[in-house]
Amino acid sequence: MPEGDTLFRMARTLQRAIGGQIVTRFETVLPKLARVDDDAPLAGRTIECVESEGKWLLMRFSGDLILLTHMLMSGSWHIYRPGERWQRGRQHMRIVIETPRMVAVAFNVPVAEFHTGDSLARRVGFNRLGPAVLGEDFDAESAVRNLLSQPGMEVGPALLKQNLLAGIGNEFKSEVCFGAGVNPFRTVGSLSVEDLRRLVAAARAMMTDNVLQRSAMRRTTRRAAPGENLWVYGRGGEPCRKCGEAIQARRHAVDARLTYWCPQCQPYGA
Ligand SMILES: [Zn+2]
Repeated sequence: MPEGDTLFRMARTLQRAIGGQIVTRFETVLPKLARVDDDAPLAGRTIECVESEGKWLLMRFSGDLILLTHMLMSGSWHIYRPGERWQRGRQHMRIVIETPRMVAVAFNVPVAEFHTGDSLARRVGFNRLGPAVLGEDFDAESAVRNLLSQPGMEVGPALLKQNLLAGIGNEFKSEVCFGAGVNPFRTVGSLSVEDLRRLVAAARAMMTDNVLQRSAMRRTTRRAAPGENLWVYGRGGEPCRKCGEAIQARRHAVDARLTYWCPQCQPYGA
């Protein structure tokens, strides 16, 4: 599943390609979107900006119209020059937004909705997002407070709860816990506020670093070589890069998602 950094890049790429331009053509196979386009056509509107919020992608058009999409497991947005061959088959196309210079195509997006500013603010699931880790005005203390509201939850699953803080996916979950030296199987309530601040700061630092670098390969170690780019994720049984102890992997009972950690650098009892 794309994590917040992937969505951030996707939004930035779209913004550079079509932001500020005028829509010349809109096409969709999704009946709900088509109805809105019939009533209040997209063509002629300006694409004011494209941005990500957690794992959501927002495309804001002039005249108070917002296209909200979520990629879930399978969706993606591509950018093409007019007439350029698409990398995916037409049967996967859900939305096409064309400007004089570029064509943006959404493939297999499972969630796509038009909103006004008001309806978006009321949209369940979206309006309950916690502070976005990659947001410009990221509020670390409110993320810490949100985590503290779930004292009985294990740290690993808590970091994935998008209503507590938005943008962390399964890979970063393990990396962030390692970066903060926190055992992912401890409960949130057993940690100090300082531990939680360290977790939130590690999330912000690692994910920001990932959107600033040029390569699309996710990395947290600051090493770009494949196989050296992550601390613990996907490295079960391999030696810890800091202490040499074998990295462990286990599923959480609550969500069955796999977490990797170093038992020495992230002791349960610390
Ligand atoms: Zn270690």
